[in-house]
Amino acid sequence: MKLNRIGMILIACALAAITLVVTLLVVRQHDRQAAQIRIKGVGLVKSLSTVPMPVVTANGGNGGILGALLAYHDNGDFAYAAIGSADGRILAEVAGRGSMTPAVALPASAAAGFGERDLAQGGAPALREFYGPLADRSSGQLFVRVGFYQPRYALPAQDVSFLALLALAMFLVVPVVYLMLKREMMPLAALSDQLRSLARPDKADGANDADMRDLIAGMRGYLDQAGARIAQLEQGALNATADNRLLQYGSKKLHAALQSLPDGLLMLDPGGEVSFASGKIEPLLGIPRERLLGQPLESWCCDPALRTLLGRYSGGLRDHARAGGAASGSVDFAPVNVEGRQLSATAQPLSGGHGTMSFGTLVVLRDVTRECLARQAGNDFVAHVSHELKSPLNVIGMYAEMLADSDDESLRVESLNVIQDEIERMNALVGNLLNVSKLETGSMSPERNRVRLDDMLRDAYDQALPRAEGKGLRVLLDLPRELDAVAIDKDLFRIALNNLLTNAIKYNRQGGSVTLAARNEDNDIVISVRDTGIGIAAADQGRIFDKFYRVSEGDAPVKRGGHGLGLYLAAQIVELHHGRIVLESEPGVGSTFSIHLKTVPAPAGAAVL
Ligand code: ADP
Repeated sequence: MKLNRIGMILIACALAAITLVVTLLVVRQHDRQAAQIRIKGVGLVKSLSTVPMPVVTANGGNGGILGALLAYHDNGDFAYAAIGSADGRILAEVAGRGSMTPAVALPASAAAGFGERDLAQGGAPALREFYGPLADRSSGQLFVRVGFYQPRYALPAQDVSFLALLALAMFLVVPVVYLMLKREMMPLAALSDQLRSLARPDKADGANDADMRDLIAGMRGYLDQAGARIAQLEQGALNATADNRLLQYGSKKLHAALQSLPDGLLMLDPGGEVSFASGKIEPLLGIPRERLLGQPLESWCCDPALRTLLGRYSGGLRDHARAGGAASGSVDFAPVNVEGRQLSATAQPLSGGHGTMSFGTLVVLRDVTRECLARQAGNDFVAHVSHELKSPLNVIGMYAEMLADSDDESLRVESLNVIQDEIERMNALVGNLLNVSKLETGSMSPERNRVRLDDMLRDAYDQALPRAEGKGLRVLLDLPRELDAVAIDKDLFRIALNNLLTNAIKYNRQGGSVTLAARNEDNDIVISVRDTGIGIAAADQGRIFDKFYRVSEGDAPVKRGGHGLGLYLAAQIVELHHGRIVLESEPGVGSTFSIHLKTVPAPAGAAVL
């Protein structure tokens, strides 16, 4: 019984809600129409009141402005427009279908100005009349009167289908809710029926055991069912919480993974605005993340090539496909806000639902500065080496021709000397290049042995002596009586030492000197090559050990030529021996290159080579 009552209440509530919605709609529609009629009426009266009488009433009204008015306003709510006197006499009028101007006197206040009033018409629909005095008083004081039918309370036709749908939805929902409630409350209803039957007067002598057993069994059944339902709901809530936690954990993990990627990630939504920017983006682009998020492409992207690329992906997959775009595209660019950096941007449309749904665009930004520099250095290297090999070959070719054509003994000797020099130059270049390549590919692994340097330094001195003396230089060797031992690869170290000695001779001046010295200093051995040559300007000293770096010879009187590899190689070899190389130099005075190597204490019984 109780359940049926709930069902009735539900239906009553549904009906009340529908009635309320309908009433509100009807009232709103009525008010809107009344307001429209007022605007039209007041406007018409005001405009007609200024027009001269003959223009308004030409041909008894039908030919003048009134006639035109009828043609324009003859729709449902227009009733009449007329010119008449204050006592209700009509001089000219036009009226809508089935209506006429009521011959009713105007209120006394009409002479004072514009006004409006309601006119009841017996059985006919009520009217709303607007009136005002005519400005043209050539025929005495006359009035313009315009009447409209009062709007009725009715349901707007365009809303009927919406209301029908609403009512249908409510009538469908109410039985479903009712049935669900009924199912939930059924055991309770059965219990209450049982209690009620026990309380009936015919059971006045008290309930027997069987009745009580039924009641208890019913109660237990209900409690079991309610308990099961509660457990089911609790389990549902628990599952939802666990799912939620798992989702949060997954999303945090994904976020952390995206943030720790070595490249920068940007996600643009289909409209082209930034919806995600990883932490790496800020240092790469030099733009704070906050200034990117939610911003359109134009506000942060200044590079035209990148704009064009990303522009191709905005507007979703269909636009992109229509523009004939590839699945992904990339472009290299230099960010405006970070100097000297080169980035590569790869854009990839993000799609789901078997390619029918677009989530926007994924943009991966990678720092390719080093690759670019390496590519540039590689190109420079090939150009440089080709040039360096071509020049001596040209010279050799030229002198070889002279040798073939000339019988002059001195010219032949000179040609042979030049050819010899150029071959040595090429040989030095190729030798240095081979060593550099071995160093850089890691195939030059030093075999370090514990050695005393005295013999090696004497050897190097002996080799340099004739070359230096040939150029009018003095060579000095300055060694202490005893040198500590160091661990070096003799052959490799010899290359470094030779390069320093060659430079000291090459960049020297007539009558100058070269000193090869060594000394023990704390735990180091310091080997120095000192010259009294042209020296190196402070501005060049920082880059002197760079590969291919050469001090510009400008308009120097003597061009010495070279490849900029000797010092680079020397520094690399010293580094392989965990040592360091130090330069002290003064232009016009000379230079000293010092190699510092750690001494190696002799293990008991160890041999020294
Ligand atoms: P290269 O001598 O083939 O040009 P290096 O790497 O040996 O290449 O030297 C690099 C540059 O350092 C040279 O071009 C030269 O200008 C300068 N340089 C090297 N050694 C000396 C030195 N002892 N005195 C003056 N300048 C030197």
